[in-house]
Amino acid sequence: MIGIIGAGISGLLAGHFLQKQGKPYFILEATNRAGGYLQSERKGNYLFEKAANSLLADQELLDFLHDIGLQDELLYANEVSKQRFILKNGKYQALPTSPLQLLTNKFFSWKTKIAIFKELRNKNQVIDNETISQFFERHFNKEIVDYAVTPFVTGIYAGNPAELLVAKTFPQLVEYEKQYGSILKGFIKNNKVSRKQSINFREGLETLPRKLAEKLEIFYNQKVENITYKKKFSIQTQTQTFDCEKLIITSPSFCAAEFLRLSFPTLAHALAAIHYPPMKVVHTLLKKSAVGFELNGFGGLHPAVEGKFSAGALWTSSVFKHRCPDDEVLLTSFVGGQLATTHAQLPEAIILQRLNQELTELYQLSQPPLYQQVVNWDKAIPQYNQALIASDQAIAAAEQQQLYVCANWHQGISLADAFKKAKGLAERL
Ligand SMILES: Cc1cc2nc3c(=O)[nH]c(=O)nc-3n(C[C@H](O)[C@H](O)[C@H](O)COP(=O)(O)OP(=O)(O)OC[C@H]3O[C@@H](n4cnc5c(N)ncnc54)[C@H](O)[C@@H]3O)c2cc1C
Repeated sequence: MIGIIGAGISGLLAGHFLQKQGKPYFILEATNRAGGYLQSERKGNYLFEKAANSLLADQELLDFLHDIGLQDELLYANEVSKQRFILKNGKYQALPTSPLQLLTNKFFSWKTKIAIFKELRNKNQVIDNETISQFFERHFNKEIVDYAVTPFVTGIYAGNPAELLVAKTFPQLVEYEKQYGSILKGFIKNNKVSRKQSINFREGLETLPRKLAEKLEIFYNQKVENITYKKKFSIQTQTQTFDCEKLIITSPSFCAAEFLRLSFPTLAHALAAIHYPPMKVVHTLLKKSAVGFELNGFGGLHPAVEGKFSAGALWTSSVFKHRCPDDEVLLTSFVGGQLATTHAQLPEAIILQRLNQELTELYQLSQPPLYQQVVNWDKAIPQYNQALIASDQAIAAAEQQQLYVCANWHQGISLADAFKKAKGLAERL
């Protein structure tokens, strides 16, 4: 018997793949719903995503979604969303999307354009425990770190690239460096293999956990409080005890640190050190006619050096259909993260006041928002910093005792990572 703790997307996928192989399993979930951080809210003609907004899917993941019967629910990102905007000198500027654009548009200075082409001649070199900033500054220069890397790291990891480890966050880049010296060469050589599409569903990303949960063996309202291990696991919740030979942890690291403290103290200690900065997700509905320019892109991100209040916004209604009526637009702003923790901790009224001031200026708004919704994540995204060196070592040791991890604080934060990890682990067990 295999016990799985947590019915977020990681636990559900692990359960799905074990079930497909005919392996006996059960899932214990603390709350009365499946999906964890994945929460989508439909309000009439509006669809709000409370955390994740899109899933970057390769062909294998798309095939899986077809197999489980979600083909008619799928939404592909609109073509315009291939264009991404970055705030530079107070204005949104398009990030180049091809080598030709890189040469012709004015986003990067000539010094940086030359540094990019020179990177293709980089020699193989791997430096242990390098941060993302150090890695990119070594390969390119500081302008790339400030205006290309930082906004994306803030957008995806809510993190500080000067703290996050490149080997833990972007292991693929370290592989490219090992293999080709140049990471650009790595991208060029692997372009066809790794083509991915940004997707969602008509009723939002929560469609996926809802669908998976329908056919799985899940015990709800079973918050795991303690685990004992004597050749077998005994899992205690408030009301019951469950036994299993193998255990998969998928709950957030700070929850796992609690219930593992007596049986796996080294792992629990390492997990307690993983930091999650706070984040507010703010949905803003506007009349389309009130926005000073057309929102033809994925969104506008704010490099920290630009000193803005928010980390930027996704232009949600430009990316996916069916998010709001055609004469309105929906923006999804992010406030907080590791580089702006204090912003997320302000009272909600102040957050909205400062955000609206910023939106009015940046989007040349002629009317106030029609509606706004603030979603609070006290602990948003685990940081892949130095703390992960100890936790990864403790996880490797725990595997000797049949305790496995399939969670977003180990080997990948994204939904696509969850799919790959769950499938791989189910095959391994
Ligand atoms: C604001 C934000 C935006 C994001 N945007 C994106 C995006 O656009 N694309 C993307 O790919 N990813 C995105 N992510 C990341 C992604 O949403 C998460 O990494 C993913 O949903 C985590 O899923 P999980 O199953 O690993 O963990 P969780 O969702 O945390 O699930 C864990 C489950 O364990 C349960 N649990 C906890 N403690 C116990 C216990 N003691 N006993 C039993 N059960 C327990 C919880 O209730 C929960 O259901 C975003 C995250 C945030 C916060």
